[in-house]
Amino acid sequence: MSESPYPMISPDEAFRLVTTSVQTLAPVRVPLDEALGHVLATEVRAGENVPPFRSSAMDGYAVIAADTTEEREVLGEQDAGHVSAFQVRPGTAVRIMTGAALPEGADAVIPVEYAREAHGRVRFIKTFPVGANVRPVGQDLALGDLLLSPGLVLGAAEIGLLATVGQTEVTVYPRPRVAIMATGDELVPVEQTPGPGQIRDSNSHALAAFVRQVGGVPIMLGIVRDDEEALRQAILEGLERADMIVSSGGVSMGRRDLIKPILERMGIIHFGRLAQKPGKPTTFATLRGKPFFGLPGFPVSSLVSAELYVRPALRVMAGFTTLRRPEITVRLLHDIRHEPDRTEFQRAVVTWKDGQALARNTGDQVSGRLLSLVGANALLRLPQGIGDLRAGDEVSALLINAPEV
Ligand code: AMP
Ligand code: MG
Repeated sequence: MSESPYPMISPDEAFRLVTTSVQTLAPVRVPLDEALGHVLATEVRAGENVPPFRSSAMDGYAVIAADTTEEREVLGEQDAGHVSAFQVRPGTAVRIMTGAALPEGADAVIPVEYAREAHGRVRFIKTFPVGANVRPVGQDLALGDLLLSPGLVLGAAEIGLLATVGQTEVTVYPRPRVAIMATGDELVPVEQTPGPGQIRDSNSHALAAFVRQVGGVPIMLGIVRDDEEALRQAILEGLERADMIVSSGGVSMGRRDLIKPILERMGIIHFGRLAQKPGKPTTFATLRGKPFFGLPGFPVSSLVSAELYVRPALRVMAGFTTLRRPEITVRLLHDIRHEPDRTEFQRAVVTWKDGQALARNTGDQVSGRLLSLVGANALLRLPQGIGDLRAGDEVSALLINAPEV
């Protein structure tokens, strides 16, 4: 039996190698409405006060708080977006709408429910102090305030803030472009009926979806034959068009597993063998400064390795400062067979009962069975060095889907 020349490294060491050799992409300017999910690359300060003028927080009457006049003359109405030349004096009031500028002289707003207006005159059934229901200049944001710091992930509130201060474009880290190639002479495109000895290429589609989920942009290179020149050409195309290349298949010990030797000639291989199951032959290289992940062909192996290594790499490139999934301790609901020779990542469903996280695996964990990932929200990390586990045992679990209830 021939031995792989690549040293067997631990998943932790592989994570470290990946996250330290990949670099954050150069920031770009994107239109405000395309910034969702991007990581902000600069700080953003308020270039103006918000609100920019004293405004009413309620529908009501702008008055002088200290005015004791029983019945006051209504001078008119101040609507939002319109500024009239009213001058509020003792004995007068101005009807005012939420968001309208407070007229000259007024220092409080009495809400409409405390007012009784008839024939151009208004009486109030309650008094209010100076400043009541008035939004002072800069109440929400003061000129020069630090609003957003670099590294922040832009969500709805952040985009709202950017709009508030008039930023039509935002400086963010770009979405990494990921070239995806499926390798194997046995593969046919999904729309084709496989002939004898052939199967459909599912990895291209699964990996493209995965890349999108992580915030990257997949570029499909399609199916590449197990042929050195064809593979080399596809890799060159990937380097041309993308920031990262992800391939599946062709990294194990078969005679037609050509990826590793090609990578050796084109760049630097950081690792080519991991003490983990699934995903042992996962390969990571740098070619012309760009990361290349050679994932195994088995559909589960490729997606689990993508989760463990491609995801953190993409997050580094996209400017995220948090790279890991939350990892929690869970209690097993059943016995689990586990070989002690390597770390195993079993697909599982974690549920909560009385504050305790419980885990059940997704059944047969064989590397080709994509069904083992369907509905899974966690990867159980069954450590190297210990064997079978029993119901009730505690193990570590990576939460790969935010649990919802
Ligand atoms: P390999 O890593 O190339 O030895 O492939 C391992 C197994 O994964 C083989 O059974 C392949 O047929 C299967 N496989 C490889 N690539 C794909 C793919 N793109 N989609 C589905 N299965 C694949
Ligand atoms: Mg193959």
